[in-house]
Amino acid sequence: MIVRQFTSRGVTSHLCSRFKETQTQNRQVMARPSSDLAAFREVFSKAKHVAILTGAGVSAESGVPTFRGEGGFWRKWQAQDLATPGAFSQNPSRVWEFYHYRREVMLTKSPNSAHVAIAECEARLQKQGRRVTVITQNIDELHRRAGSTNILEIHGSLFKTRCMSCGHVGVNHKSPICAALEGKGAPDPNTSDAQIPPHDLPRCEQGGCSGLLRPNVVWFGETLDSDILTRVEEELDLCDLCLVVGTSSIVYPAAMFAPQVAARGIPVAEFNMEETPATMRFRFHFQGPCGTTLPPALARIFIQYQCIISWWSLHVRWYFYHMYR
Ligand SMILES: [Zn+2]
Repeated sequence: MIVRQFTSRGVTSHLCSRFKETQTQNRQVMARPSSDLAAFREVFSKAKHVAILTGAGVSAESGVPTFRGEGGFWRKWQAQDLATPGAFSQNPSRVWEFYHYRREVMLTKSPNSAHVAIAECEARLQKQGRRVTVITQNIDELHRRAGSTNILEIHGSLFKTRCMSCGHVGVNHKSPICAALEGKGAPDPNTSDAQIPPHDLPRCEQGGCSGLLRPNVVWFGETLDSDILTRVEEELDLCDLCLVVGTSSIVYPAAMFAPQVAARGIPVAEFNMEETPATMRFRFHFQGPCGTTLPPALARIFIQYQCIISWWSLHVRWYFYHMYR
């Protein structure tokens, strides 16, 4: 599988042509996806290597703002205005205020039941010698906080920094990340820029480097980390079940990754708010908030639940039969 030619928000013509081939292949085998949970559980129970692609929908259910789309503004800008190398080189203070605000917001947010279901699933399957890999485009670390450990963050993390001088990537959960950003970053459109001098912005602490740090997230117009993409490629080649969770199958990365997995005959299950044209390429589709649809799909005791429900309904029926016959 070739995924290395991806850029963060676009693909090369080579990959587009690969995708078109996949589309053509899939059009020939399209059948309406099933929403039969018991049938999914049957497939899930046999899977040895599960790849779970997650996107903004999972974070949205925790109330994490995206600063994109209608109403998605920080001051008078959207993410695509500030999450660019050009914006950072022009005004690193403003971009750091934006990211400082996003980091601080995350202190008030928690993983939701979809994050927890994925993390519990990974821990349980690991004990059985099976493997779960989360491939996420979210940068908020909510999967990690829920307990997932095998995570590929293809767009980086709000809580990692990269030195503009030496390139060192470090984990950083400080709040605030530096003294000068304390109390800054208010999202109100009338707030003035803090205009923090570059030497007071987050700086590298590696052996006297002191280079300017930037958030280690993939910005618009940047390419994805090739090491991470190689690992994504390996996971997608190995998986025998793929879940697409909270990300539309018409946008990157699910638009490229999941249909290619489906094209080699591997079951793909989509958990999403709505159907998309790509939904028809998948074996399963479960519509609704993933915090509601995913937990029963991945739960350990689904079969027991079914048994209890059957047992209970049998007894209720028996009771009414004997009371009112
Ligand atoms: Zn450095």
